[in-house]
Amino acid sequence: MKKYKIWLSSPYQSGKETEFIQNAIESNWLTTMGQSLEDFEKALSKMFHYDYVCCLNSGTSAIHLALKLLNIQNDDEVLCPSLTFVATANPILYEKAIPIFVDSEPETWNISPEWLEIAIQDRIKKGKKPKAIIVVHLYGNSSKMNEILSISQRYEIPIVEDHAESLGAKYQNQNLGSFGKLGILSFNGNKIITTSAGGALICSNYEEYKKAKYLAHQAKSLKPYYHHEELGYNYGMSNLLAAIGLAQLQNFEERVLKKRKIFDVYFQELIHPYFLEYPKEIPHSFSSRWLSTFLLPDNYSPHNLIEYLESYLIESRRVWKPLHLQPIFNNFPFYGNHFCCYLFEKGICLPSSVSLIDTEQLEVIQKVKDFFG
Ligand SMILES: *Cc1c(COP(=O)(O)O)cnc(C)c1O
Repeated sequence: MKKYKIWLSSPYQSGKETEFIQNAIESNWLTTMGQSLEDFEKALSKMFHYDYVCCLNSGTSAIHLALKLLNIQNDDEVLCPSLTFVATANPILYEKAIPIFVDSEPETWNISPEWLEIAIQDRIKKGKKPKAIIVVHLYGNSSKMNEILSISQRYEIPIVEDHAESLGAKYQNQNLGSFGKLGILSFNGNKIITTSAGGALICSNYEEYKKAKYLAHQAKSLKPYYHHEELGYNYGMSNLLAAIGLAQLQNFEERVLKKRKIFDVYFQELIHPYFLEYPKEIPHSFSSRWLSTFLLPDNYSPHNLIEYLESYLIESRRVWKPLHLQPIFNNFPFYGNHFCCYLFEKGICLPSSVSLIDTEQLEVIQKVKDFFG
């Protein structure tokens, strides 16, 4: 039996990492400023046509600053999909605001425009208009942006795009992350590119960018001494980590194509009868297929399949457990018919590392087939 593990989504190096880090070290900017950081921000905005990108120490910090820039405060309501990673919603609680959870729709598994509108109307009826909509493009798949954008315009509620899992994905030929008022990226270790830890705020103008930098560096005013008028944070990205990010961008296209190919192969081999459903690439969208995800048939549980694969040193994971079911969030409102709970009950994420080789993927596929017998 093989002695190494097939991981869900492990970091993938372009080969330039050491060289870029060495440059950063030689510059002696071993801090949260420097040329690599500036270059990484510029490279991201150029490559994905973003107006301004402010690099930070995590995607979670980026969501927090997005909410700060939108002036979300105590008791303000923020709409958010229930089916997402906890980091999407935690910053709402940092500001003592109220998350309003919304169900998924069956096509993309992302926030349901129908339930989103119902939630907005009901919140308004109850006396308070929500102040922001967080949209997450789960597993690399575009949300139904057309419908969501028109709801955002109709009710004049700004969108924050949580683009942590979907860098490389597009809608109507435009990079996701640039549709909302603000967007966020994550460069956590399992994302499509990594700086080992890191994130970024995508801004639509220079004022937002400056404000984000200011808040991320302890909100120090432009004075010849230490002067603070607002509460600030220590959220800046290290220049050394930005150097890793620059190296990671070198082969970005290859990463996306590989993720898509991995999905296609699983799809060809496993959809019907083994797996029933998967999140769709809606018309005019381009998925980055960050993780290949599928739904198991009625009589099977993902838990058993995960354990079975684990016994062959193959890592797989459940789909996110909906946030409205989580003990820390279960006092907050939820709008939907619990479709996201079904996705949690039946969903599985299969190994999708850019470094996954064909023979490894064939082994995963064979083990899945063996499991079903
Ligand atoms: C990874 C992730 C984040 C947070 O990123 P960190 O960089 O780990 O803080 C936020 N939202 C989603 C949907 C994610 O998958």
